[in-house]
Amino acid sequence: MPDKSDKLLILDLDETLIHATTAPLTITADFQVDAFYIHQRPGVARFLANISPHFTLGIWSSASDEYVTDIVKAITPPDVEWALIWGRSRCTMKRDYTLDAYYFEKKLEKVKKKGFRLEQIIIIDDSPEKSRSNYGNAVYIEPFTGDSNDQELTYLYDYLLTLKDANNIRTIEKRGWRSRTWPYATMH
Ligand SMILES: [Mg+2]
Repeated sequence: MPDKSDKLLILDLDETLIHATTAPLTITADFQVDAFYIHQRPGVARFLANISPHFTLGIWSSASDEYVTDIVKAITPPDVEWALIWGRSRCTMKRDYTLDAYYFEKKLEKVKKKGFRLEQIIIIDDSPEKSRSNYGNAVYIEPFTGDSNDQELTYLYDYLLTLKDANNIRTIEKRGWRSRTWPYATMH
């Protein structure tokens, strides 16, 4: 077993690990939750199984708490444990005055109460506005909308291993992270 780092890796759900639709896509859904057809991002089970020995894992989605619980139950491989599984009730509702719309923000200050320092937290999201106040902690990935050739989780795995032993996640430039993964061994 590799050494586990002192880092907490928080993963978003929709368009990060899965894509949910209310009508079936041309590709077959992996499972259904209520009225939703759930498509898992390619490699999600392998990603979670391979990354869990290295990081403490959490899920934080701005979807309803029940939806989050059901989906996490369905996608979690054996032996993968979650330090937190959080849904909308842990998010902070914000108003975007330019767009005249509301959105949910994930404020990492709330995670500090679990005993993690901000320097130790990495949050993965496809929606920059949801991690607006976590700029130094966020790694943004391409949204997954059902492309069966998507390889984002393979790239992400390689990149995350380069952050594992960092002293302070917040001081590391993470923009353009994908171009920095090539020298490292991939998980497949
Ligand atoms: Mg998302």
